[in-house]
Amino acid sequence: MHDISIWEQDAFFAPQDIIIIGAGFSGLWTAFHLKKKFPKKKMLLIERNVIPFGASGRNAGFACFGSLTEIISDINTMGLDKTMQLINLRFKGLKTIREVFPNKAIDYDSCGGFELLKTDESLSRLGEINKHLKCITGSSKTINQNDSLIKKFGFKSVNHLLENKFEGALHPGKLLAALSQLLISMGVQIMYATELKEFEEKNEGVLLTTNLPTKLKAEQMVICTNAFSKPLLPELDLYPVRGQVLLTAPVKNLKIRGCFHYDEGFYYFRNLNDRVLLGGARNKAFELETTDEMSTSPVIQTELDNFLSETILRGKKPAITHRWAGIMAVGAEKFPIVKRVSKRITCAVRLSGMGVALAPRIGKMAVQEMNL
Ligand SMILES: Cc1cc2nc3c(=O)[nH]c(=O)nc-3n(C[C@H](O)[C@H](O)[C@H](O)COP(=O)(O)OP(=O)(O)OC[C@H]3O[C@@H](n4cnc5c(N)ncnc54)[C@H](O)[C@@H]3O)c2cc1C
Repeated sequence: MHDISIWEQDAFFAPQDIIIIGAGFSGLWTAFHLKKKFPKKKMLLIERNVIPFGASGRNAGFACFGSLTEIISDINTMGLDKTMQLINLRFKGLKTIREVFPNKAIDYDSCGGFELLKTDESLSRLGEINKHLKCITGSSKTINQNDSLIKKFGFKSVNHLLENKFEGALHPGKLLAALSQLLISMGVQIMYATELKEFEEKNEGVLLTTNLPTKLKAEQMVICTNAFSKPLLPELDLYPVRGQVLLTAPVKNLKIRGCFHYDEGFYYFRNLNDRVLLGGARNKAFELETTDEMSTSPVIQTELDNFLSETILRGKKPAITHRWAGIMAVGAEKFPIVKRVSKRITCAVRLSGMGVALAPRIGKMAVQEMNL
């Protein structure tokens, strides 16, 4: 360990009012709402990697809030009230993103969300679900059956297509970068390559041990480390799961446009500049995908390759230019954990799918939970 200078002490390692851990969407939006509410408070956000490295920069960029089969499945597991509460948070979160950033800054595209159905089963619930969604979107037909698009998009063995005009797509990398820049302009200090290893809560504040040559100190700390939270807060009910993605080379005459879901949201794909970005299939190997290893696996990638050529591209097999994985968090319940764990420590974690939309509201909830 090096000694530190008085200049370094004053400029970089001075005691803070609030330190936020993790620069994914949860940490960034938490810092955003905190700084907006308490502009005079001194805030530092630390991130262990040189860029955010979990789920936020490795997802599919869907700006969505729920497909019919996923909503039905969530109602079955969580109940109606909690499911609608979660959808409401996502819907409002998307609104916040669009209020804060112009479309151009984050490549926001109001391309619509779609769901492919291979059976009729869930259609009988469409009217009832739309009634509940009306309280959130204000529209009596949030999700519309539009089977005529099946041919237009060129799908094979798909019986029905549902459309949600409120959904869209964005560039998660640009959103991360724009949010970080905004925070810096608001006066939040961000330090990358700084990993929280341990912390001690004392009467006078929280002492943080990191890889830095000195301990950091704060009045309050917010932990936004999502799937990587167990070492810091072992009592939390969450574990890491992996999501995998592939991206094709440009496909000639690609017919799909929009963000598409299939099978309770376990499969998702979109047209990204005439290339297909396809992800998911975690339900084909739940056990293997219960991991925090940030690498792709042959089982899932082969499944994605097959889905691509069989269902989306009618036998075409374009070159794959990118394959990657990201890590998100799940637990007994799908609802994120946002709570004060002690006098000076709050957490906002356990975001699984649709965290792009959720995080702006999760950040706001974290601020409400804090002892400020
Ligand atoms: C493949 C995939 C596709 C997805 N597609 C979509 C989609 O299309 N739309 C959507 O809405 N959602 C999607 N999601 C979900 C969404 O990406 C996540 O819910 C969301 O990004 C979670 O954000 P987060 O900030 O909570 O977690 P993360 O983005 O994982 O951020 C946590 C951060 O904490 C840092 N960290 C961890 N431990 C420490 C420590 N000890 N000290 C300092 N820093 C630490 C990590 O490096 C990381 O940067 C997808 C997820 C995956 C994996």
